[in-house]
Amino acid sequence: MHSDIVIVGGGAGGLELAARLGRSLGARYGRERVLLVDRSLFHIWKPTLHEVAAGTLDAHQEGLSYTVLARRNHFSFAIGELKSVDAQKKCITLNEIRDAKDEVLVPNRTLSYRWLVLAIGSGSNSFSTPGVEHAHLLENVRDAQQFHSDWLSACAKASFSTTRALSVAIVGAGATGVELSAELLEAHAVLSESLGSAQRFRLDITLVEGSGRILGGLPEKISAQAEVALRRKQVRVLTNTRVVGIRRGALLVPGGEIAADLIVWAAGIKAADTNAEYGLETNRINQFVVDSHLRTTAPDVFAMGDCAACVWTEDRLVPARAQAAHQQADYLSRVLVAMLREREYSQAFVYRDFGSLVSLGENRGVGNLMGGLAGRNFFVEGLIAKWMYISLHLNHHRAILGLGKTMVLALARLLQQRVSGRLKLH
Ligand SMILES: Cc1cc2nc3c(=O)[nH]c(=O)nc-3n(C[C@H](O)[C@H](O)[C@H](O)COP(=O)(O)OP(=O)(O)OC[C@H]3O[C@@H](n4cnc5c(N)ncnc54)[C@H](O)[C@@H]3O)c2cc1C
Repeated sequence: MHSDIVIVGGGAGGLELAARLGRSLGARYGRERVLLVDRSLFHIWKPTLHEVAAGTLDAHQEGLSYTVLARRNHFSFAIGELKSVDAQKKCITLNEIRDAKDEVLVPNRTLSYRWLVLAIGSGSNSFSTPGVEHAHLLENVRDAQQFHSDWLSACAKASFSTTRALSVAIVGAGATGVELSAELLEAHAVLSESLGSAQRFRLDITLVEGSGRILGGLPEKISAQAEVALRRKQVRVLTNTRVVGIRRGALLVPGGEIAADLIVWAAGIKAADTNAEYGLETNRINQFVVDSHLRTTAPDVFAMGDCAACVWTEDRLVPARAQAAHQQADYLSRVLVAMLREREYSQAFVYRDFGSLVSLGENRGVGNLMGGLAGRNFFVEGLIAKWMYISLHLNHHRAILGLGKTMVLALARLLQQRVSGRLKLH
């Protein structure tokens, strides 16, 4: 099987790239020109995983089928997991696909390309902490659904326990840890409303951060405001606290333990260990090293999004954010269209920081913050920030569905929530 452009990974960046290329090339020259490969059959925008975990977003309603998106955007789609890259022969191999009984459904496949784009994202970084297997991760939809299932069981248990309390410890106070704390508080508040007083239980969240402040990658004012909002909601925020190990039911910290019914590991990012096996240069967290044109060290192989290490400023890489993946998709679509039309495209990729929005859960009362828009830093809070945060998600949908369908989908989901409730309890 051959395609001019093969994109591996249909996440925040790869899917937007496939949709853009499909609309500009596939529609004119045939959909087989652009092939998207992903190991999943449906797409969920990763920044919403904490909502799936808390049950405030239903992955089955939210998920968009790659085959439907491919048909609408004029690209082709293949399910599969990247196994190897042969940059000399310009082909990749995908792992075989097995069914639940471990029988081979689809054997190993080889796909040849003219240009390859790797957009396979990243996971969390355990920093080799002993016992991390006792913690939940939030790397993909499966992890989020597993957490949600265990969260519901823990809620039921707490409801009938003598202490009538549920404790959750979250390691890492980056956007994932902070947003998950806020979302769990919201889910608990909605749940409490539906429980009789005899079954209500207390939720104790401890957010543990190794560095001196939460949201360390964002401006200090945002960290401070978010911390105030979380503390006001009774979240126990522990900064300068390094987790040295985890055992079932407790975090081990210097000088003691933090007991928890549920533990989530949301600290740091690291790309897949297998990235180092593809014959491309990688850095210490397994990201593919790319130049300012997003080219890896192999000819005609590009990398983008979380899996790429692209220099931003002298001492900083482009951050692993949906915003960066979105900008890189836009850039690479222009590069690849030009290359396919045998035109020069000499402009380098320049990352522009449009600021950061952190969802603190509720629509009312809790601030959502942003910094660095239009070259100046200013702050938005409360409902305005929440709407801006939601607009980022809608913007992603607009890039892959178009404006009309995004509006219809948003309205349909709003109505669905009105009918079925905001919380998924099954
Ligand atoms: C809970 C949470 C909250 C976040 N909140 C924010 C936020 O508020 N703002 C923000 O900017 N960023 C946020 N992020 C970060 C953001 O989600 C990522 O930076 C962004 O998704 C990166 O996009 P990507 O395309 O590089 O990778 P991803 O979106 O992770 O997509 C990778 C894709 O590759 C596929 N894949 C992986 N490995 C293989 C393989 N070997 N073979 C085939 N397919 C493969 C996966 O199935 C997936 O579809 C958050 C992340 C999390 C987890």
